[in-house]
Formats: sequence, C-alpha cells, structure tokens
Amino acid sequence: MWIDDEGWLDQAVRVPTPHCGGTEMTPVIVVNHWTAGFSAASSLRALEVQGLSAHFVVDRDGGVYQAVPCTRRAFHAGTSSWRGRDGCNGFSVGIEWANLGPVERGSDGRCTAYGEPVPGRCFEHNGRWWEALTDAQIAVGHKLHQALAARFPSIVEAVDHATVAPARKIDMIPHQAQVADWGRAFAGREQAPATPRPATKEREPLHVRAIQEALNRAGYHLVVDGIIGSKTLAAIIDFQRRHRLLPVGVVNDETRAALGL
Ligand SMILES: [Zn+2]
Repeated sequence: MWIDDEGWLDQAVRVPTPHCGGTEMTPVIVVNHWTAGFSAASSLRALEVQGLSAHFVVDRDGGVYQAVPCTRRAFHAGTSSWRGRDGCNGFSVGIEWANLGPVERGSDGRCTAYGEPVPGRCFEHNGRWWEALTDAQIAVGHKLHQALAARFPSIVEAVDHATVAPARKIDMIPHQAQVADWGRAFAGREQAPATPRPATKEREPLHVRAIQEALNRAGYHLVVDGIIGSKTLAAIIDFQRRHRLLPVGVVNDETRAALGL
C-alpha cells in the first residue's frame, strides 16, 4: 500500500468529491473518525449531502475509498484544535471508519443501532456498548498509517476526532488505544512543541430536559423526565436525519444550533 505524488492511495477506490480545499496542504496529524453509519457507501453519501468529506472511508471488509487526495484539505474535523493550532482540516488527513459508535444492547445480548442489527462485534467500555472495529479494518489501519508515514515525513501523530474537538465529539474514544497503536508508524518523529491553548469560552452544559423541551417544540411528544431513554434517543436521531445532520444520537453543536439551544 503506497501513496503517489498527488496524494492518492494505490489500493483505494477513488470517489472524488468537490468538497475539498484547492490549495496545497501539508499534513501534520491523522484524525480518525467513525462514520456512525452502516455501509461506507451510505456514509459517503451522507458526507456528500452535508458538504463534508474525508480523505478516506474504510468499510468493515477493509475496502478503502478515497474522496480527497492527501495533499488537499478535506472537510472532516470542523472546529478543532491540536497543540494550540486551530482548524485541523488545514493540516490533517481524515480517515472515517465504517463503525456505528454507540449501540444499544438488548436483554438477549444482541446489539442494535437505529433499530437495525449491528453488523460487527460489540464491546463494553465505560458502561456503554460500542461496535468494535473489524480485524480487516485494524489491519488496513496499520498499512494505511504506515503508507502515510512513508509518503509524508511531516506527519507526527495519529489522533481521534474527540482529542481535537473534545467539547463536540466522542469519536473514537473507545478506540483510542487502537489509534495510538496505528500511530506508532510515526514514532520518534519530532513533535511540534505544545503551545498553551488559548482560553476558550465554555458553553453552558445542556440539560436533558431542555433537549426534550426543544424536541417537543420541533413536533415530538416526549415526556420531559430529564432522562435520555430510547424514545428521546430515537427522537434526537430522527431530528438529525430530518435536518441532514449526521445521525449520531449525540446533541453536538450542529444539532444544538438546529434545535435553537
Ligand atoms: Zn468525527
């Protein structure tokens, strides 16, 4: 597996998107995400309709799709900061892993997401259930990070989205050990000195009751009990689908704005 001068991976299916930056980009980090969806194809479509993109999307069978060459900006990290440097899209390669993230586990031990059976294995972490990465994805992760290391001496670290956008994102917290393992491809490289992070204004934490009231104003009929149960979660995901937001089931900044909170 190798990356050519223009930044394309030899073994990827190319699915070019207009949603990328036109000027040359020198990657310094790799940002790993989960798609929070089922097939890679459906996630590519979801990114497309939102005007978003990632350099790579890796399916559960290890198949790699590439939408943006690694020498151009893709729109995957949003508002983000790494070692005091804001706007990670300007200096990162983004990889989306076909993975549902949080899942529901029934009393029969089966896991579902959005009411559908989860395609992969699930595991418990911090009291919640999550879809595991497949063996094929883990193997591709090693090869892809090694190919990036070989092509870009500028890359010094692999991180997950939550690390560079902790107030908004949870992908891929349960997989951080795996991301660190992939990142050994960049071991020993000079790390940019950490600069003090400018004080960011923390937003008020959202209360579940406020979310439920906002959802009811948007036409849902939830009992305002302050608990994220299956009905509230389903309403959040339905609201996100209707507003063409990624249906992550987490009230992130985009969802909060759409709810008027
Ligand atoms: Zn992400």
